[in-house]
Amino acid sequence: MSEELSVDHNDALLRRNGLHVTAQRLAVLRAVSVRPHSTADDIYTLVPAQIGAISRQAVYDALAALTDRVLLRRIQPAGSPARYENRVGDNHHHLICRTCSRMIDVDCAVGDTPCLTAADDAGYEIDEAEVIYWGRCPDCVAARSTDV
Ligand SMILES: [Zn+2]
Ligand SMILES: [Zn+2]
Repeated sequence: MSEELSVDHNDALLRRNGLHVTAQRLAVLRAVSVRPHSTADDIYTLVPAQIGAISRQAVYDALAALTDRVLLRRIQPAGSPARYENRVGDNHHHLICRTCSRMIDVDCAVGDTPCLTAADDAGYEIDEAEVIYWGRCPDCVAARSTDV
C-alpha cells in the first residue's frame, strides 16, 4: 500500500516541477529514496527490478532532469563518483568513510557559527554550504583495531 502512495507522491512531485511523468524518472526517484547516496551505477542496477531493462543513458538523463529541478541533490565527493539523494533543501552535510566509502547524513551545524555564516561573505548572497567530513566509520575503526 505505502509503495503505491509513494508512486503517487512522486508522480505529483514530477508534475509540480514541470517534468513529464515517465516510468524511468519514477523508477530513478524511487531507487534514490530507497538507497540515498547512490551513484548512477548503483541506480542503474536497482532500477531494472522495478521497470525492467533500462539503458545507462536513460538513467543519466533522468538523474540530470531530476537534479536540474532540485528533486534530487547531487553530491560530488573528491575521488568518488557523484552520489544522489532525495533529501533536498535542508543544507545537511555528509560523513564519508575513507575505508569503505559509506556515506551518511549529518545535520547542518547550528549555534554560534552555523555553516551558512561565512567568516567573510565578500558580499555574496550565500544559499548553500557544502561540507563533507572525511574519516572512518565505526565498523572500519573496529575492524582496524581487531585486525592488528
Ligand atoms: Zn567504513
Ligand atoms: Zn545526504
